[in-house]
Amino acid sequence: MMDPAHAILFEPVRIGPVTAPNRFYQTPHATGFGWQRPQSGAALRGVKAEGGWGVVCTEYCSIHPSSDDSPYAFLTLWGDEDIAPLALTADAIHAHGSLAGIELWHGGAHAANRLTRVPTIAPSQQQALYHLPTTAREMDKSDISAFRGWQRAAARRAKAAGFDIVYVYAGHDYLPFQFLSPLTNRRSDEYGGALENRVRLLREMIEETRDAVGDTCAVAVRLAVDELQGPRGITSAGEGREIVEMLAELPDLWDVNVAGALGNDSKSARFAPEGFQEAQVGFVKALTTKPVVSVGRFTSPETMVSQIRRGVQDFIGAARPSIADPFLPAKLREGRADEIRECIGCNICRAANNEGVPLRCTQNPTMGEEWRRGWHPERIAPYPRRETALVVGAGPAGLEAALTLARRGLAVSLADASRDLGGRITREMTLPGLSTWGRVRDWRVTMLAKQPGAQIFRQSEMTAADIAEFGADHVVIATGSRWRRDGLGLGNHTPRDLPGALTPDDLFAGAPVGAEVVILDDEQYFMAGSWAEKLAVEGHKVSLVTPWATPATFAAATNEQDFVLERLLRLGVRLLPFTHVTHHRDGAAHLACAHTGRASQIACDTLVLCTGRLAQDDLFHALKGSLPNLARVGDCLQPSSIADAVYSAHRFARLLGQDDPPPRREVPPLR
Ligand code: ADP
Ligand code: SF4
Repeated sequence: MMDPAHAILFEPVRIGPVTAPNRFYQTPHATGFGWQRPQSGAALRGVKAEGGWGVVCTEYCSIHPSSDDSPYAFLTLWGDEDIAPLALTADAIHAHGSLAGIELWHGGAHAANRLTRVPTIAPSQQQALYHLPTTAREMDKSDISAFRGWQRAAARRAKAAGFDIVYVYAGHDYLPFQFLSPLTNRRSDEYGGALENRVRLLREMIEETRDAVGDTCAVAVRLAVDELQGPRGITSAGEGREIVEMLAELPDLWDVNVAGALGNDSKSARFAPEGFQEAQVGFVKALTTKPVVSVGRFTSPETMVSQIRRGVQDFIGAARPSIADPFLPAKLREGRADEIRECIGCNICRAANNEGVPLRCTQNPTMGEEWRRGWHPERIAPYPRRETALVVGAGPAGLEAALTLARRGLAVSLADASRDLGGRITREMTLPGLSTWGRVRDWRVTMLAKQPGAQIFRQSEMTAADIAEFGADHVVIATGSRWRRDGLGLGNHTPRDLPGALTPDDLFAGAPVGAEVVILDDEQYFMAGSWAEKLAVEGHKVSLVTPWATPATFAAATNEQDFVLERLLRLGVRLLPFTHVTHHRDGAAHLACAHTGRASQIACDTLVLCTGRLAQDDLFHALKGSLPNLARVGDCLQPSSIADAVYSAHRFARLLGQDDPPPRREVPPLR
């Protein structure tokens, strides 16, 4: 039964001519499917609606070939042929009684137009950020007039496809925002100069979108109220506020955020807590009678209720929490708040978008697999026989394998050598800002406790003989990985003799660390930077060495790299790019330039090697050939992200006893 305190979240809310059945609003977010994979996109959005999100929006939908984000996946409403594929999404959302929103988009100077090769347009000439060395050309009056026509035409097509909420998108530094910001609008005509002039295009877009479709569709404005460039740009205390004042009652809904670049409104948990945008977006509701939605990685029902009661917003806007748990609203409605699979804020979902591949999620391995594999986050086929399984290792992979097998009806025993469950998570969540990662472990432990056929054995290190003697029908090895000591990494292919060097495993185990620390990042994700931060905060003098141009390259994909570098530089961590560590002796690390080989050295009491991990697969190999149903999953199979470990385990457990056909593809018909 629903907790009465949560009832406020299930009140209907009117948005212009339409009514949302509740306050759960899935704001637009990328899926990596785009116009090429409409069935995949429709299935994903349909699952969100099924899970109770009262409003479900699409990702960015280009209104014209001059806004082409290839090779990244985006939707299109360039012609009438786009209507039927998008109707699949609107229908999938309507099938569960939710409203369908569509985010009409023009990227302006940020549209690279690699596919269409149409010249890039902007309010004033500016570098095309994602298409070097192009300069976007300045739009003249006829371009502006044509642009307004594209928005109207796309809105009409969106309506024909069945959408209920049509966006005017003035956020994330895209074209309408480029007109708003004095940093990008240097025009001297009636569309530039004073704020009233810079707002002109947005005002026209709202009015004309309403004229085109406002009889049956709500017109939503997505506005970045702060672009985080200080007083030179749009700020929530300055022009961001004035824009909302000027247009307060014009749209049917305000979808507001802190943007500029995309990474600012989807900051990872390492750099921003739940509800982190409230200080900047909180003013909007007082200026308008129209409903307001914003985001903030909301996963706590108490925070959600507080957002509504305190008048911060009318909806609970969410992208990532709805990815991690499409059934978040349904679980609250049914009084199952403890079963919510909370987003951990790791931004692996952002990485998928930045890599141009379908959406993936650390917490939810079914995300993106709804159509191509037919996976559902809450339903799974029972295993046809009553059999037993032994899972060895209770890191993210072992926990996921055990839970998924138990959900399928197998009698599962999960054994771990340690007293603590969670494997690498229990260690990594002690690093600065990563405590939310513990949710990967906690959710699985909570759900396993509800499975009648599952039992957990702690402090139970298993040998090959123990496992064979256990006699389970299925054995799953999930023994993880260890950090390598031989110096081999992404950039260094020569084994190094580095006696006394520590690995992250040693640091987690409490190895003593000297005053002068050199950390080698030749792995390029979060580990080296996290330890640099932790040790610098503890008072060590830290140098971060990498053979590459910067440390933490993969953190660029998770939209974290800029924040990582800023934090390390503020802490006084010395960055040494293009550098190898060749040896370590007599209180010095000996270095070599990655390009010229020039030798140098720096003081070093403790050398830490973050260069990669090796699978701990001894048990698997010891048992191979002697057990009929033996598998390995997670880092023991392929050391990688937690997301990949969870996915690997889920895939194994879901497919156990079934064929493993290649995932379906949306192959276009030949004409
Ligand atoms: P993954 O990310 O693949 O889940 P982890 O490294 O997080 O891998 O977890 C591996 C887990 O396996 C650890 O909790 C470790 O204690 C456990 N483990 C390793 N070897 C054994 C063993 N022989 N018996 C039981 N547990 C083991
Ligand atoms: Fe949240 Fe990480 Fe999943 Fe993204 S990938 S939704 S940040 S848990």
